[in-house]
Amino acid sequence: MTKQLKGIAASDGIATAKAYMLVQPDLSFSKASIDDPKKEIDRLHSALDQSNAELKLIREKAAESLGEEEAQVFDAHMMILADPEFTGAVESKISDDHENAEAALKDVSDMFIATFEAMTDNAYMQERAADVRDVSTRVLAHLLGVSLPNPALINEEVIVIAHDLTPSDTAQLNKKFVKAFVTDIGGRTAHSAIMARSLEIPAVVGTQSITQDVKDGQMVAVDGLTGDVIVEPSADDIARFQKEADAYAKQKAEWETLKTATSITADGKHYDVAANIGTPKDLDGVLANGAEGIGLYRTEFLYMDSAELPTEDDQFEAYKKVLETMSPKPVVVRTMDIGGDKHLPYLPLPEEDNPFLGYRAIRISLDRQDIFRTQLRALLRASAFGTLRIMFPMIATIQEFEAAKAIFLEEKANLQKDGVKVADDIQLGIMIEIPAAAVLADQFAKHVDFFSIGTNDLIQYTMAADRGNEHVSYLYQPYNPSILRLVKHVIDSAHKEGKWAGMCGEAAGDPIMVPILLGMGLDEYSMSATSVLKIRSLMKRLSTADMAKLADQALNESISNDENLALVKKTTDQ
Ligand code: PEP
Ligand code: MG
Repeated sequence: MTKQLKGIAASDGIATAKAYMLVQPDLSFSKASIDDPKKEIDRLHSALDQSNAELKLIREKAAESLGEEEAQVFDAHMMILADPEFTGAVESKISDDHENAEAALKDVSDMFIATFEAMTDNAYMQERAADVRDVSTRVLAHLLGVSLPNPALINEEVIVIAHDLTPSDTAQLNKKFVKAFVTDIGGRTAHSAIMARSLEIPAVVGTQSITQDVKDGQMVAVDGLTGDVIVEPSADDIARFQKEADAYAKQKAEWETLKTATSITADGKHYDVAANIGTPKDLDGVLANGAEGIGLYRTEFLYMDSAELPTEDDQFEAYKKVLETMSPKPVVVRTMDIGGDKHLPYLPLPEEDNPFLGYRAIRISLDRQDIFRTQLRALLRASAFGTLRIMFPMIATIQEFEAAKAIFLEEKANLQKDGVKVADDIQLGIMIEIPAAAVLADQFAKHVDFFSIGTNDLIQYTMAADRGNEHVSYLYQPYNPSILRLVKHVIDSAHKEGKWAGMCGEAAGDPIMVPILLGMGLDEYSMSATSVLKIRSLMKRLSTADMAKLADQALNESISNDENLALVKKTTDQ
């Protein structure tokens, strides 16, 4: 039966295909005492064999679709299955303690995980904990006779349905087959949504109930422009979605004509429209959309894509590639922003009640200087290959910026002493994403070379509303005068000190926000590469003098997000 759902439109595009449930099945079991250990050990071996065969296949597919490096994680899983220390310990639990195979497996894997996690001075061994956890989940599923979802094995067109997608789940999606995804939870600025936009996969998030409303294999129609999702669409629904998909394709073709143009307003002012990237792989999209630079390179994905801390040389190669490809256009690289919703299996962080308010980004970098210095050295070495700018994430105080800058200068001097060539004009800036820094922007502007406003976090911290929580997503209000006044203060403060201000949060690519930002004089707009042409085309028909009037009204007369939304729509005919 047809069902209609409304979620948050998270990534543009329209698609209809069969549902693929990326949902963890119920793996609960009871501990039991068994009479026939031999039979139980046979059961264990059959689950181990099935897991091994499955891993072999997944490894093969992952190597094809994602590359050899990504596939290697599955080698580690197969090694655990073949390790007599691990499997022998499970067998002993069955034969000596008469535990059923499920309980024996869980006891042994818990013990291995605890041992590995305790090796805090050995990152390599710590990372084995995540492997043991993954592999024992797979074996347990086989013991219980339930199947686990394997996104790497998808080989036909599907719409992925999930409760939530972590950034690493999203990174594994193969664009060739995954036509869209729909989730129960999440907001427009959650990292899975941001990645969907850079992968150009249509997405609707925060539907609250999609995993309950659809079954594996049922047809689903998804509109990532409006947030509409239809389960088992009628022939009429499919025709309507197709019509919208055609109109969207036509509009995209029109934007394409601006690919080699610069971004100029109707009254001839030029602004930089740049792109956000997560890895060097995203450069294809940046070039295809003619961005005028990289305004945010989220380097944490380099750490997340790796099985251990990336070495200085690994990082150098990645940064050099991005800088060389973009040269002479500028590249703003953000130092690692781990924490919040981004984790590294090999760098266990403390359990926190409020990870978004916890040990994150620059706070980790200043504490774990070994990691920070390695990153800065790699960046400094790469600076010789293009126009590098560095910014620090989650800066709350001027002291944090000064501490980070001092470490940067130390590493720069060290490299120069060793005769390594580094650029001498690297601008150092900060993300403005904590209200304390926004309010004090006039003082910060004396210390930094530039600001880049991270509205995803700035809005969540100003409104006290978790960016990934769909129950409070109505508080994601970029046009609220409270947010606009903070943004204006940041821009004015930068200009007063002769510095520039950009924005790299999702609001910078929002066609309703851009007219207000133009009116406030924002210098640089950095967004998902797929939004660049849409925004360039919008700027072309706006005049900054008119937008200044609009911004003044939005800042001083309006009292709400919705009022400003209506005002911009009316003034700019959108
Ligand atoms: C932001 O907070 O707006 C931002 C760009 O950083 P991230 O989304 O990676 O937290
Ligand atoms: Mg942020």
